[in-house]
Amino acid sequence: MTDTIFQKIIDKELPAEIHYEDDICLVIKDINPIAPTHLLIIPKKSIEKISDSNKEDQELLGHLFLVAGKVARDLGVEDAFRLVVNNGADAHQTVFHLHIHLIAGREFSWPPG
Ligand code: AMP
Repeated sequence: MTDTIFQKIIDKELPAEIHYEDDICLVIKDINPIAPTHLLIIPKKSIEKISDSNKEDQELLGHLFLVAGKVARDLGVEDAFRLVVNNGADAHQTVFHLHIHLIAGREFSWPPG
């Protein structure tokens, strides 16, 4: 299987605006932002989608949420942000390497579209 765009960014074969990085994940700016703040929290481990994760990913998945909270605090948006995971093409997942969208800086409505 060919590498996804995110795998190439993780491997530093493609450029990205990296906001945060540690051993487990990378946080980059979305290239096509839908809000003033739109970041992607991407695990370095290749998991196609959240429904492919399993018990051994528990710590990794928890880490992604902790990083989301830290990044939101660092940006001063901790009181109003949204985390989104699109799972599967019918849910508008377009890159098949698990990622969490962190969106902030505009008004939100509910239910989401
Ligand atoms: P999803 O539709 O949930 O799979 O989200 C994929 C996201 O990746 C979209 O919001 C795209 O704008 C974003 N994206 C695609 N290519 C890049 C890239 N090279 N750098 C940063 N973000 C990207």
